[in-house]
Amino acid sequence: MKPTPKSQRKLILTHDVDWPFRGPGKAHVLARQDRFSPEIIQKVQTEDFNPYFGVPRVREIEEKFGVKSTFFFRPVYDDGCEVGEYSQTIRDLLAHGWEVGLHANNTAMQQDVDREKALIEKAAGTQIDGCRIHCLKICDNTYPNFAKAGIKYDSSISFDKHRIDSRNTGHLTRNGVVVFPITFMDAYLFTYMGQTEETIVPFIVKTVDQLYESGAEIQTLLWHDNAVMMRGGRVYPQLIEQLISRDITFLTGRQAFKQVQEATQR
Ligand SMILES: [Zn+2]
Repeated sequence: MKPTPKSQRKLILTHDVDWPFRGPGKAHVLARQDRFSPEIIQKVQTEDFNPYFGVPRVREIEEKFGVKSTFFFRPVYDDGCEVGEYSQTIRDLLAHGWEVGLHANNTAMQQDVDREKALIEKAAGTQIDGCRIHCLKICDNTYPNFAKAGIKYDSSISFDKHRIDSRNTGHLTRNGVVVFPITFMDAYLFTYMGQTEETIVPFIVKTVDQLYESGAEIQTLLWHDNAVMMRGGRVYPQLIEQLISRDITFLTGRQAFKQVQEATQR
């Protein structure tokens, strides 16, 4: 495959908001204090600070570098709280040009998809287009259900968690739903691929370049918001700084979807 022209190189930036608004609680964080800086642990102890709520930090970093991204929120969290608790966060994101989508919990039944999408839309006060399934749990009916629910694009496919795979670039279509496979996921890189805080930025930057050189047009990056203050995940600003120094167009999922749609209508 020919290298992708620089003008065509695109990167979709995404974040999954996996934790409830109040986070996992002080005891959970303090049991893992080696993952955080002493300053953060101090704030956890004295101000009940929740370092798993990384949305403001992600916004600050992306604002600084002039990029926007997509945040996928779960309709219901593991503590039973609903996404309504994030309503103000979501509306602020939307008002400032970020995108919000559904981080689906259940997609096997049509009524679950409809209900979960409606919960996000109620919190957002507007329609949403995109989805990523929590833990990427795709089932047989996922894409027919998404199509009927009016979900236009999804980003829940990963063909290989153990290595970066060119199949996880670009887009494909399932039941009329555009799917952007996940090229890079922070959690897979730190676990299955053995990357560390020291190695991950150069590794991603080098691999991004190689994939464009071998013909990839779209790459999709997932960085969890709960990790941006944690060891490893806290290198997000260095990663973005390195990536924006290249000729890459940064896109939200919706922007990428619109480009795919326009290209197929041409
Ligand atoms: Zn998730």
